[in-house]
Amino acid sequence: MRGAFPRQAPFPPEMPQNARQSAKTVSRAQRHAPRAWGQSETGLRETARDADHILSAKPLFCHGIVSMSISSRRTFLSTLGAAALTLPSAASATTPVIALPRDAGRGDAATIMAVRTPSPVVALTFDDGPHPTLTPHLLDLLRARRLRATFYLIGNRVVQWPDIVRRIASEGHEIGNHSWSHPVLSKLSDAAVRDEIDRTSDAIWRVTGRPPVTFRPPYGAFTQRQRHALLESRKLPTVLWSVDPQDWRRPGAQAVASRILNGSRPGAIILSHDIQRGTVAAMPQTLDGLAARGLKCGTVSQMLGWPLWQDRRFRRVAG
Ligand SMILES: [Zn+2]
Repeated sequence: MRGAFPRQAPFPPEMPQNARQSAKTVSRAQRHAPRAWGQSETGLRETARDADHILSAKPLFCHGIVSMSISSRRTFLSTLGAAALTLPSAASATTPVIALPRDAGRGDAATIMAVRTPSPVVALTFDDGPHPTLTPHLLDLLRARRLRATFYLIGNRVVQWPDIVRRIASEGHEIGNHSWSHPVLSKLSDAAVRDEIDRTSDAIWRVTGRPPVTFRPPYGAFTQRQRHALLESRKLPTVLWSVDPQDWRRPGAQAVASRILNGSRPGAIILSHDIQRGTVAAMPQTLDGLAARGLKCGTVSQMLGWPLWQDRRFRRVAG
C-alpha cells in the first residue's frame, strides 16, 4: 500500500481458540465487503455471525459518496422507529481551521463525505468529546427523541471519562475514532499517526468492548495518501462531512441550528462538536427542525448500510 502503517497488531497477541476458522471467515468477508470491515489489521476481528451479517449489506462507493442499497435503507428506516437522535456539537477554538481536505472531492472508498440515497436520512456527528457535562446533556436530548448519533471521540478523553463513553455506547450511539490528542495529523510521521489512531481504538475497545469502525481526522487534516493507508492497514474509512455549521467558531445556537437545517439533504453527514455549549444548545431546535423537514437521523454505520455498531462483535487476535 502507500507506505505508512506497519501491519503489526498494537494489542497483545491473543489467538482465538478457533484461529483457523476465524481467519477463513475474515478472508471471505473481506473479499465481499472489505470496506465494511473494521480493525482486522489492528488485531480485532469480528465473529462469523457478524461477518455473515455484513455480507448482506454491501455499500457501493463512488467518488466519495456512498450509495445505500434498497434493502439496507429499508432496514435502516425500519430501525429508525425504535431509534432516534439529537444533535450536539461545536469544537474547541483551537488554532487550525477545520476544513475539508482539498483533494476530498475526488473521493474514493477511503473517503466518505455523504451517502447517496433518496431516503430522507442524515447522520449527525459530534466531535471532540466526551465533555463531562455537555455530552450527558446532549445524550439526554437524543434519548428524549429516540435518536441515534455518532460520536468521534478523542482518545485521551475516553480514558478520562469512561462512564460517559459507556453511556454513549449503551444508549445506541456509534463511537468513532478522532485521534488520541487531536493533532494536525497531516504534519505528523506515519508512525505518529498510527500511534494516535491505534491508542484511541484501543481505549474505546477497552471501555466499550468494541473498536471504532470509522475515523475522522482532527481539522479534516488528513492527506489522500494517509486516508488510503488507514483504510488499507486498519480497515478504517475516513468519514468527513457534507454539512459544516462552523460551530467551533461559536456563532450562537440560532446560527448553528439554521446552518445545519439549511444544509441538510438526504444522505448528509453533519459535522458538529459536543464540547461547544452553543452547539448543544442548538440541538433541540435542530433536531426538531430536521424531524419537521421529514429527515430521520441515524448513525454513520446505518447510513452506510452496515450493521449497527452496537451489534458487531470483535475479539482480539494476533496481528
Ligand atoms: Zn476535532
